[in-house]
Amino acid sequence: MSEWFFPEVKFHPPKPPEASHVPASVKPVVQMEQGEEYVVRDQPGSAKLDVVNSAEAWTEGDILLDHRNVLKIVSDETSAPLTLKRRWISFVPRQELITSPVDRHILASIYGEDALMNFIAYCRRLPDNKFNIRLGYKGVESRVKKKEVAAVNAHEHGHTIGPHLTDPVAEEMKADAFESLYMGYYLGTVRYFMDGTNPRSVHHISRSRIRQLQEIGIREEEIIAHLIGGNFGDFNQDSYKRHLRRPFTSV
Ligand SMILES: [Zn+2]
Repeated sequence: MSEWFFPEVKFHPPKPPEASHVPASVKPVVQMEQGEEYVVRDQPGSAKLDVVNSAEAWTEGDILLDHRNVLKIVSDETSAPLTLKRRWISFVPRQELITSPVDRHILASIYGEDALMNFIAYCRRLPDNKFNIRLGYKGVESRVKKKEVAAVNAHEHGHTIGPHLTDPVAEEMKADAFESLYMGYYLGTVRYFMDGTNPRSVHHISRSRIRQLQEIGIREEEIIAHLIGGNFGDFNQDSYKRHLRRPFTSV
């Protein structure tokens, strides 16, 4: 770990699930206007695929059109410059997601061999700030909900914001914070909470930390601005600190 972020915040590790029947999965929980909560997706790969009902059927074109519209809305409403430029999104069969042996080696060394099996999407940073986003949903369109694909695509877009962070947890937090911001607009929800339960998983630690920051009241834009060390919308690297005045919640 060569970088550290949110130095004033004492993060707790992810809590393993209490009941043994609860699967240890990554679960964003959406808080609706009415205060009702529901789970949007489980850890890709461990989730049981159900047949989606025909009203939820989607095509690649639907996802890309929604993406273009939501990026524009988020960009307009947050004043953050978000763009589709230099970001190539392709849908591939899951088994063809990460074909380069070098990429597989790098990802396995960061996330572990097991995690490699669970990857459902992948963002590759190319020279000159170009990005290849690959979504492993080709052929399973009828078994995956559109909002799940939208969330994963949003997460991958989050990896394209600002510089690549060498700390894997921080890099995931950047993507997760953007996913949360984006999905709030996409679903029209009050909060899109992140959570994780496995203290040994980079993705779980990231989501758990996003949730802890959300609980302090720190906005997604403030998380992103801090992580990229610059401005994001109306917020800067230190904007999150205004939430730390309340005693005991953050120190
Ligand atoms: Zn990620």
